[in-house]
Amino acid sequence: MHALRKTVACPAQSVSYANADPLLIVGGHGSRLVDARGRTFLDTRNNVAHVGHANPRVTGAVAAAASAPCPNTRYLHPNQAALAERLLATMPAPLGSGHVFLVNSGSEANDLALRLCRTWARQRHDGECGVVVLTHAYHGHTVSCIAISPYKHSHPKERGKPAWVEVADAPDAYRGGGRADAVEAACARLEARGITLDALFVESGASVAGVIVPPEGFLAAAFKSVRRRGGIVVADEVQTGLGRLGNDLWYAFEAHGVVPDIVTIGKPVGNGLPLAAVVVTRKVSDVFATGPEYFNTFGGNPVSCAAGLAVLDAIEADDLRGNATRVGAALKAGFERLKCKGSAWCVVGDVRGGGLFLGVDLVTGVSKAPATAEASYICARLVTEHRILTSLDGPGDNVLVVKPPLCFSMSDAKEFLAALEVELGASNALPAGFLFTRTPT
Ligand code: PMP
Repeated sequence: MHALRKTVACPAQSVSYANADPLLIVGGHGSRLVDARGRTFLDTRNNVAHVGHANPRVTGAVAAAASAPCPNTRYLHPNQAALAERLLATMPAPLGSGHVFLVNSGSEANDLALRLCRTWARQRHDGECGVVVLTHAYHGHTVSCIAISPYKHSHPKERGKPAWVEVADAPDAYRGGGRADAVEAACARLEARGITLDALFVESGASVAGVIVPPEGFLAAAFKSVRRRGGIVVADEVQTGLGRLGNDLWYAFEAHGVVPDIVTIGKPVGNGLPLAAVVVTRKVSDVFATGPEYFNTFGGNPVSCAAGLAVLDAIEADDLRGNATRVGAALKAGFERLKCKGSAWCVVGDVRGGGLFLGVDLVTGVSKAPATAEASYICARLVTEHRILTSLDGPGDNVLVVKPPLCFSMSDAKEFLAALEVELGASNALPAGFLFTRTPT
């Protein structure tokens, strides 16, 4: 199967564990996945299977919707309106009385959000729509999303950012950088180039950047800088939305006392089916409505919407936000305890995040230098010796990004912590010639 994949797929589409034993998943349930060789793995990384792999509530709803006609979104359908209404109910005012666009992926949601920002800009001035983003942010794979994703456009083979984009230093409490006025400074840099600031795109918990959570006051200051200039704010909640951070929150931005103008929701809402959403205030939506019609062939299709409704039902019925709070707290405390368990070759330097969105920053020895190869080795050991699936992210590819299905249990947490403790143990060391591989998001 791997040989076939290598023949038919561009090498830019990487496979996890490609240098060892790529997995062919054939089954699973909850926080477990089963491969073609009958091995069961604990999944600590899949934030798409938000309410658990093969959640029966979701599979049942999807099967029922898939056996009925799937007309396009120019016809009325109860699933579509119901999902939009349910998503609005998760939003604070004034977003809660805003409008919803249902789309097919996080990238499509952010692409549409950018289009909404451009429409907003156009009624203000004739120039380019100026956008500020944070360092190492990732907002999606389309051409427009790459323009606002430093994680992609700063790659040596890319052309860098366009003139209408400015990058603000992300706040990183561990390694430094990202002063409270970072967004203000980025707005000023845009203006110095003659470009008007119209929008800020921000993750309130940046996953690809290595679980960077803004400190108190950072987002409030950033929103103020943008709004003082008449701009609007897009909160990218593609990774953090729908209760991942626990604490009775639906979205990560809520912990910062701010309310964006646009929220994009992706991965978790379809539990694996192509479904994403853009929630926008009436103020911005009304401006967009004066432009050309918006039509999306597959966005809001009845099958994906059935999945979305079942996901929201499962979060509430199974108290998954409560579970994220409890299990996340136990996991975080366990990772903190591992700080003193590392050996000379690799240690836990920092633990951050909340709920079931946690980052474990693995560093070499006592320095803060990213333990890139060592972290990769540990992930390889976790899968081969303990059957635990993990992912690494951050600029140094050394941060274990822990974002399992929200049904991850206390015993799953104990199993993961025990395995990590073994692999961080003093007896291990990076073997000579170990081939570095990352396990991308
Ligand atoms: N925004 C964020 C924060 C993401 O992490 C991702 C995907 N990793 C996207 C947008 C793009 O979503 P998709 O892959 O569904 O297009």
